[in-house]
Amino acid sequence: MCGVFGVINNKDAAALTHLGLHALQHRGQESAGIAVSDGYDINLKLGEGLVTKAITAEDLKELKGDIAIGHVRYSTAGGSNPKNIQPFYAHFYGGSFAIAHNGNLVNADQLRKQLEKEGAIFRSTSDTEVFVHLIARAKEPPPAHIILHKNDTDFLPLVFDAMKKVKGAYSLVILREKQLIAVRDPYGFRPLLLGKNRSGSYFVASESCAFDIVDAEYLRDIKPGEVLVIDDSGLRSYFPFEHPEKAEKCIFEYVYFARPDSLIFGDWVYEIRKEMGRNLAREYKIDADVVVPVLDSGLLAAKGYSEESGIPLEIGLIRNHYVGRSFIQPSQEIRDLSVKLKLNPVHQVINGKRLIVIDDSLVRGTTSKKIVNMLRKAGAKEIHFLISSPPVISPCYYGIDTPTKEELIASNKTIEEIRDYIGADSLHYLSLEGMINAANKYKQKGFCTACFTGNYPVL
Ligand code: SF4
Repeated sequence: MCGVFGVINNKDAAALTHLGLHALQHRGQESAGIAVSDGYDINLKLGEGLVTKAITAEDLKELKGDIAIGHVRYSTAGGSNPKNIQPFYAHFYGGSFAIAHNGNLVNADQLRKQLEKEGAIFRSTSDTEVFVHLIARAKEPPPAHIILHKNDTDFLPLVFDAMKKVKGAYSLVILREKQLIAVRDPYGFRPLLLGKNRSGSYFVASESCAFDIVDAEYLRDIKPGEVLVIDDSGLRSYFPFEHPEKAEKCIFEYVYFARPDSLIFGDWVYEIRKEMGRNLAREYKIDADVVVPVLDSGLLAAKGYSEESGIPLEIGLIRNHYVGRSFIQPSQEIRDLSVKLKLNPVHQVINGKRLIVIDDSLVRGTTSKKIVNMLRKAGAKEIHFLISSPPVISPCYYGIDTPTKEELIASNKTIEEIRDYIGADSLHYLSLEGMINAANKYKQKGFCTACFTGNYPVL
């Protein structure tokens, strides 16, 4: 899972990208990188860890130019190797470019083998580098239905050709010497948004919270299958695929991943996450004293449940914000440690009470088991564990780091077995319809639900 950001037409391009990446930090905490163009050359800074550690104030001074792209990374494909830190930079016969990617290509291994056979030398294990090689080697002319602007004739046909060869999820920002290019796969799995500030700089980002921090306004989503070019001559949109695919936006972004103050896929995460909680209350009426969210991501669903049921919301678990999200820590040992460090019960709220505990998802079950245990020790009388999404039964191949099928508790146990494992008095999941209806409440649109259903739109 990753976050991408881009800006054009701003003398502080690198500093604004740094800010934008801060806002997107929840999408990836392993590494960060910024690439900047001064109109002639592209410069790059990459580093491990959080944005502040990866790119320092000293680094920013060296990143001069009006166009920049940035990336925060959590490894899905390729592992957490420093060689995989993005953006990637490449110099080829047509000039140079840098690229940053959110998503996951499902045919990357196959393409990589083929490219290696043809002589390509890879320097990373990331699927994004496949894109780099495909662009550098592309030969096909642009599709017949596309009329290119004179600024776009050299590079864009290469991008179109690469897009035709890859399969899977990709929201990309590409930096050229004089252009910023945003690309979204034809299914639109991952979000990608366009924004603008008052002085005429354009921005591209994974979530709208990155626009807020740089004082830019959301204009619109980059559409599924769209290639948007921004340069001195303005904005130009191309759609290289003649027949659009059915939209498959990742519903998990609304359930868990995106920040609640963000707008993605054209709707506010805050409203949809709360509606998931309301639907949970409509589906499961439970006699209890308080609703307790598992902070932070369970908060809005708990608020929705509380509003719909009339049962008061109490903050019965306090989160230590200095510990990363357990779901996106790479190893099991670190995950175990961070669960213990992360949450602490508030005895006055818990002791002697019948609790409805609400979390956004239940993936491995280890965190939920520890929470139930913690709440019992704090004196809870009853613990009803409610999840504001359906059971996760299949891995994600489109850029969210869900575990393998063997590690997904719901793919191996019944709901009653999971209840028994975590030690709750009852366990309930929001139905698939309840989740989709919450996301569809504001506008009708297509969602990927493969990790809940096993129905993969592209493999
Ligand atoms: S499989 Fe799940 S997490 Fe992956 S894109 Fe689809 S809905 Fe999102």
